[in-house]
Amino acid sequence: MTLLCFSHLRWAFVFQRPQHLMSIFAAERPVLYWEEPIDSQDGSTSLALMQVAPNITVATPLLPAGMRAEVATDTLKNLLDAYLAGQNEPLIRWYYTPMMLKFSRHLAADCTIYDCMDELANFRFAPPELVALEQELFAAADLVFTGGYSLYEAKRTSHPAVYPFPSSVDIAHFAQARQIMVEPADQATLPGPRFGFYGVIDERMDLDLLASLADARPEWTFVLIGPVVKIDPAHLPRRNNIAYLGAKAYEALPAYASGWDVALMPFAINESTRFISPTKTPEYLAAGLPVVSTPIIDVARHYGSLDAVEIAGNVDLFLSACERSLIKSRPPGLTWRTEADAALAGQSWHNVAEQMSELISEATASRQTDEALSRPHYDYLVVGAGFAGSVMAERLAADAGKRVLVIDRRPHIAGNAYDEADAAGILIHRYGPHIFHTNSQPVVDYLSRFTAWRPYEHRVLADIEGVHVPMPINRTTLNTLYGLDLDSDAEAAAFLEARAEPVEPIVTSADVVVSKVGTELYETFFRGYTRKQWGMDPSELDKSVTARVPTRTNTDDRYFTDSFQAMPAAGYTRMFKAMLDHANITVELGVDFTDIQKRVSFDRLVFTGPIDEYFDHVYGRLPYRSLAFRHETIDSEWYQPVAVVNYPDEKVPHTRITEYKHLTGQTSPKTSISYEIPKAEGDPYYPIPRPENQQLFKRYETLALGTPDVLFVGRLATYRYYNMDQVVAQALSVYRRHVANADNGARLESDPQAIAAE
Ligand code: FAD
Ligand code: UDP
Repeated sequence: MTLLCFSHLRWAFVFQRPQHLMSIFAAERPVLYWEEPIDSQDGSTSLALMQVAPNITVATPLLPAGMRAEVATDTLKNLLDAYLAGQNEPLIRWYYTPMMLKFSRHLAADCTIYDCMDELANFRFAPPELVALEQELFAAADLVFTGGYSLYEAKRTSHPAVYPFPSSVDIAHFAQARQIMVEPADQATLPGPRFGFYGVIDERMDLDLLASLADARPEWTFVLIGPVVKIDPAHLPRRNNIAYLGAKAYEALPAYASGWDVALMPFAINESTRFISPTKTPEYLAAGLPVVSTPIIDVARHYGSLDAVEIAGNVDLFLSACERSLIKSRPPGLTWRTEADAALAGQSWHNVAEQMSELISEATASRQTDEALSRPHYDYLVVGAGFAGSVMAERLAADAGKRVLVIDRRPHIAGNAYDEADAAGILIHRYGPHIFHTNSQPVVDYLSRFTAWRPYEHRVLADIEGVHVPMPINRTTLNTLYGLDLDSDAEAAAFLEARAEPVEPIVTSADVVVSKVGTELYETFFRGYTRKQWGMDPSELDKSVTARVPTRTNTDDRYFTDSFQAMPAAGYTRMFKAMLDHANITVELGVDFTDIQKRVSFDRLVFTGPIDEYFDHVYGRLPYRSLAFRHETIDSEWYQPVAVVNYPDEKVPHTRITEYKHLTGQTSPKTSISYEIPKAEGDPYYPIPRPENQQLFKRYETLALGTPDVLFVGRLATYRYYNMDQVVAQALSVYRRHVANADNGARLESDPQAIAAE
């Protein structure tokens, strides 16, 4: 079966993915590598054929200069047909560019493959018809392979059989660079240390960065190897310490790399680099070099966690990363190589080709099975059926008229707000007490479409050595605790003022409280509780955590003072059921995101799970605090005087006990309660507000910004310690912005207004 490979990259250009794969496939079958036409010297039309390796023929059409596009297409079709005329063998069509479909779409093939290496439409000088031709190629192809993982995410909804095959590496070839090799003459004279790059030098290169690096470190040499294309060589920064050595043969690359100290990937971060998955990353690592790269998503994703690889987003960071890498490149600093080698282990172009061949055999045997054709398609997949996911789904379905699939890995809707009747028939909250309160009228109006409300004002008592006192601290708390008789706000304020220990500036959760009420009350009410709840001292937590709890001088004993405080009359789950009850919404429960992708196709994604999980924890795990819940039913009508009693004492393992009938107004001769016992491992309930966690989140957020087809919404996806109303407000506003940007014809009903709560 002949393999016809249509490629926009010339065989003799740089030895890249097409050359690697075709060289391997050629062991099994003849390969015809079809290049773009070039102008013939004498105005004639012909097809130049050249055998470049056993079983590989490169076909280069020669056309008269200035031929009109339509005539050229017909001529190419004739040349192709003439070449194939004598052959009766079945064909495999393999496309690197959809452009070549124009003259080859008529060919009958046993299997058609689109090996998508890049978002070509984002490249400089990309022809406008490219997008339409790519759609046609998706329709024609049996298999789509992508050259990287980001590209896979971008393309996976376009075709039922898309597989990511990030570029691989010939480890043995590049490992030669670890030995001292005879240095090529044009590099031998360049002073060290040397920072090297090889690859195509085009608009994807950040030339300003290169110039700034060279200016900042005149004592370093920057070696650039590769052809300059699409940009004017006159625009390349010229410096004494930048050497452009031109294109080199693949065979010669290890010898150059062996003379470098650090390998660079100074790519510009723009549309043309959004989906690249540079082959040189694993090659540099195989050559034993530390790597410094700008934040290319696939580099960060696959290699960013390695000690060998530094990702740097601006000149200063790049310089300091280069400095660190220089130290790493010298013994005894080479320990990082073990980890890098382990990451590369098993990678080879042969493995990639073998997996591709298997898929081709399967696809050839049962081309476009019924199952593939009948995969259901949705406009949106919403991951997570909590507040974030359900609001997004409801809006997209009911307001924008989109077809939406909502999934949740849990067996129920409503996320952490899920409530259910327990064995005694009492409505409990499986994931701890959820009390609705907000100052945002638009949020109330929106949710009121799906539920009636039961007015409820939350009251909490703290158990201080068996004595129940109001929490937040108020005048009653002070009077009870200290046997006082403070009977005005002023007296209570004066009492607290005398104890307060002002802290300047207020940074931590300890500062907030100590500066208002002093150490003793802080220790009684906050220190133990917080240490249990968060697994760390309040002095290590951002001030926003304990700032949630006010201190009062009056006798108001409500936990919240929001203008709206109520519980959904029939419970949260019923409210969510009403939200999701729409003809355009399908809900599948007990389904994980990773599983659903093979079963359905979708245009866009709303992700409300943990953002670090979405990006495969490439930068490491974002910390979350978890809880264990112990639910009990007691054979008496009431257990405690209010819905929640807090236990700040560090010796008691639980933080609070909730008695649900107070929240719901339900009557029963029995009562159900739950204990909350904080823990480190388990479901991610609380993002932990600390500056370094926020910084880590920012790195994930940068990846999210580079993934515009995915909307990240909710407490876990935006790593914010949000209450329910804030998540609703966030979802409504993400939706509004999305519809405004997408200009997708959605009808916006009376705008839910600026959302105060967000
Ligand atoms: P979630 O409710 O966590 O929903 C996300 C959903 O996504 C989950 O159901 C999860 O299973 C699913 N998911 C994640 N990853 C995947 C995947 N890969 N595939 C499939 N599904 C996935 N707020 C208040 O306003 N008042 C309160 O009194 C209150 N009390 C709280 C008490 C506790 C103990 C906790 C933990 C939170 C409390 N909150 C309260 C906060 C409230 O729970 C959140 O603001 C709200 O639930 C966040 O909604 P969400 O949709 O962002 O996330
Ligand atoms: N807190 C405390 N003692 C209490 C109540 C709260 O130390 O009795 C602290 C604790 O750090 C807690 C934070 O204040 O995590 C915020 O409390 P809130 O009730 O708002 O937390 P929620 O459980 O609702 O997220």
